[in-house]
Amino acid sequence: MKNTANVKECPKCGGTELGRGKHSGYSVMAPVNKLSLGCNIEYIICTHCGFIIEGYVVKPEKFKGTF
Ligand SMILES: [Zn+2]
Repeated sequence: MKNTANVKECPKCGGTELGRGKHSGYSVMAPVNKLSLGCNIEYIICTHCGFIIEGYVVKPEKFKGTF
């Protein structure tokens, strides 16, 4: 799952050199009311100003039914 196709530039500074980062380990996102392990979060980051353009969980299906 890579939802990065429509991101081309930073909305803050207009920079086009984007990078991808991820939260892992203790920074995982976990469903609020399920006994479940969390999953990693990935980010699209502007490598010029550091703005986080997009962030998404790697396995969104884990969060069904938690709202
Ligand atoms: Zn930027």
